[in-house]
Amino acid sequence: MESFYATRTDEMLRAHGLSRTQGRIALLKLLASQKAPVSSAFLLRKLGTSWDETTLYRALNTFVTYGILAQFDFGHGHAHYEIAHDKPHHHHAVCESCGHIEDIPAHDSPQLTASALKAARGFKRFTRHSLEFYGLCTKCT
Ligand SMILES: [Zn+2]
Ligand SMILES: [Zn+2]
Ligand SMILES: [Zn+2]
Repeated sequence: MESFYATRTDEMLRAHGLSRTQGRIALLKLLASQKAPVSSAFLLRKLGTSWDETTLYRALNTFVTYGILAQFDFGHGHAHYEIAHDKPHHHHAVCESCGHIEDIPAHDSPQLTASALKAARGFKRFTRHSLEFYGLCTKCT
C-alpha cells in the first residue's frame, strides 16, 4: 500500500494545483513511506538540515488545508500527520505506555454513521469520522 502512494506524490500536488517543488515532493515521499502517522519532530529528523521547523510547519499546514495530509492529536502534546489523499478509510491503535501507533483496517458497518447521525440531533450530515483505540502494545504488556 505504501509504495503505491510513494509513486503518486507528484500527482497529489498536481491534483491540488500546488507547485511541485523538490522539498514538497521529498516531504510527501517520506510521509508516504510511513506505516502510521508521524510527528513533525520525526519528519524534521529524517529530512535533514535543508529543512527548518517553520518551513516544515508551513508545508504541513498547507497539505492539511488541501486534504493531502490528515492531522491527528493522540494526546502526545504534538500533532501527527499521515497521507490522506486517496487513502482508504482506516482507524488507529495507540499505545498509552510507549506511544506506538498503528494503522488498522476499518470494518465499519453502514449503520455506524446512520445511527450516529440519528443520535446527533443538531446534525444533518456527517462527512467523515476518525476512531482511535487506546491501550497497550505487545512490547508494553
Ligand atoms: Zn507500547
Ligand atoms: Zn493512519
Ligand atoms: Zn471508521
